[in-house]
Amino acid sequence: MPSVDESEIGAEAQLTKKLPAEEKTKRQERRERPDGLAQYISQWWQGDAHTHSKESTRPGFGYVEAIYDLKEERKYSESLGLEFVCITEHASLPGAPAKQAANSEIGQSLLAEAERIKAINQEQSSQVAMLSGVEANIFYDGAEPALDLPPAILEKLDLVIASRHKIDRSKEPEAVKQTLLFAARQPQVDVIGHPDRNTRINNETSPQYWESYWSIWPEILDEMARNHKAFEINLNAPPSKKLIEMAIKYNLKFFINFDAHDFNQYKKEQTGIIRAGEEAKKRWAEERMQDGDEAILKEYKIDRLSSGPGVVAILRLVRWLKRLERWGVTPDRVVNSSKENLLHFLTEERGKQTENLDFLNS
Ligand SMILES: [Zn+2]
Ligand SMILES: [Zn+2]
Repeated sequence: MPSVDESEIGAEAQLTKKLPAEEKTKRQERRERPDGLAQYISQWWQGDAHTHSKESTRPGFGYVEAIYDLKEERKYSESLGLEFVCITEHASLPGAPAKQAANSEIGQSLLAEAERIKAINQEQSSQVAMLSGVEANIFYDGAEPALDLPPAILEKLDLVIASRHKIDRSKEPEAVKQTLLFAARQPQVDVIGHPDRNTRINNETSPQYWESYWSIWPEILDEMARNHKAFEINLNAPPSKKLIEMAIKYNLKFFINFDAHDFNQYKKEQTGIIRAGEEAKKRWAEERMQDGDEAILKEYKIDRLSSGPGVVAILRLVRWLKRLERWGVTPDRVVNSSKENLLHFLTEERGKQTENLDFLNS
């Protein structure tokens, strides 16, 4: 996977380069107005805490999870004026999770990446703080709920999200409860990722089913609150509104994350760059790159990195912010509303201690 030169990336760099100076100034002023959209968003959201880099496309997965390297991730966040980005990789295959030993290739690669992230923070000053993390899988290891990574790895990362993907007994209320209670009780877990993804039989009409479905949540939310676990509002797999209203009553804190597997991931137009790029990405993940793919991927990356998250993503974010506001939630309950809030949550409320967090706190 080729890297992109930092000077080639910049939100709107390509979109605005032909604008006359006067129009550029007008746009800048609009962004900075106290009642402007960018100002509104920045009160609530100063960085993403669930982002996949190319490390999430692990050897043998055979499909693309993400393609960017750490420096590209940081440059992208810088160009949007954000304060931080947490890189939370997949560990084992989300569709077929399996326990990884501390000395496994995946375990060791996560620790190596955490070291690289720490070095980037220490060696090159930036407004954007980088945090290391993982999106661990919650699954059934035989009859018992399990995480795919051991405490020895999890405790060395700055942020641990635990998520259920497609697993055995995915939509049995009792199994949903058992797996989420298990995750809420793991000391190294900080956030439950997309808590109600793959939990509901949406077309089920029997009142008994829904009664039993909704009866599991009070205990789960209470256990999360007791153990200071945050609830993720994942903009890729949004939670049910009813569940968020319940979570608010349990005083839970929220993370609002794009869970980006690519930037501008909802971009629909099928331009030549995008079509060619998607094909080349597939060949890269399947380890069968062809002549010319390096150049195609580079052009694709510059296009994505330069165009920001895109309108669809921003609308999803703003819609959730407005909802939370309507339900009486204030920005201090959203962990990623500022870098200070994020560091406070991890070090004070969660009691985490890593060299990187020490450095970012200093
Ligand atoms: Zn996930
Ligand atoms: Zn994810």
